Amino acid sequence: MPIASRIDEVRSIVRRVRGNGDSVGLVPTMGALHEGHSALLRRARQTDDFVVVSIFVNPTQFGPSDDFEKYPRQLEKDAAVAEELGVDLVFAPTAEEMYSPDSCTYVEVGELTEELCGAFRPGHFRGVATVVSKLFNIVSPDRAYFGQKDYQQLLVIERMIRDLDMPVEIVACPTVREADGLAISSRNEYLTPEQRSAAPAIYQALQKGAEAVRGGASAKEAEAMVAAHIENEPLLELQYARAVDPHTLAEPGSAGPPILLAVAAFAGDTRLIDNIVVEE
Ligand code: AMP
Repeated sequence: MPIASRIDEVRSIVRRVRGNGDSVGLVPTMGALHEGHSALLRRARQTDDFVVVSIFVNPTQFGPSDDFEKYPRQLEKDAAVAEELGVDLVFAPTAEEMYSPDSCTYVEVGELTEELCGAFRPGHFRGVATVVSKLFNIVSPDRAYFGQKDYQQLLVIERMIRDLDMPVEIVACPTVREADGLAISSRNEYLTPEQRSAAPAIYQALQKGAEAVRGGASAKEAEAMVAAHIENEPLLELQYARAVDPHTLAEPGSAGPPILLAVAAFAGDTRLIDNIVVEE
């Protein structure tokens, strides 16, 4: 399995693959591969002839006080995971390969990026949309696979490809969780044992909120319930608990499903996010 660090290498490999009439699937990641990523890669492996995983800790999506420097980097281990899963190509560029020093073009997705995480992480989704556009231009995949764990990111990418007519099908994959419900994340490894024990309260809170929504609770009531459960856990500090329309991320028009319940909370310096969509 080749590991390419240069854009022109990827282009020439993909050109050959396409010449054979094979389909190309892309799974964009920041590496430190875990079971959540593996689920995306397996799904891609089932669907596409040629599977590319990109591993790039994208500086433009991190804010000045974010964890860019300490974000786990383990290319060798990740390559072994990818190989084991039958991935055909790893694309692991350097920041210099991806961004010229005078690079000044960005992809900005409107309203959707102002809500939820976007309200607290200015510039984050601009960085995400820009790097995903670049990856689409480099790999030209037929399909790209994203996790529902990062629900707002998924929505932003879906809107971007629709608005800019990008010829890529987006495949959404369900959130993979630890046995106690905690959404698997590369950032979970920052948690102390005490924080790790406290963290499942996030999913418990979402489940309580979801049950309330199914029982006819309003969005505001569900938000209050989710917030109260998390605030009850001394090792978690709630950033937001929102109940919104899952398509627009705006206030829901009426009580009951469909509703997206979304949370961001800190355990120490570690920011954890999770969500549940309560379907109609
Ligand atoms: P990341 O490396 O954190 O940028 O994530 C790369 C991709 O994996 C994104 O599409 C994420 O939504 C997805 N992902 C991360 N964690 C999970 C998880 N626990 N379950 C499903 N997908 C995930």
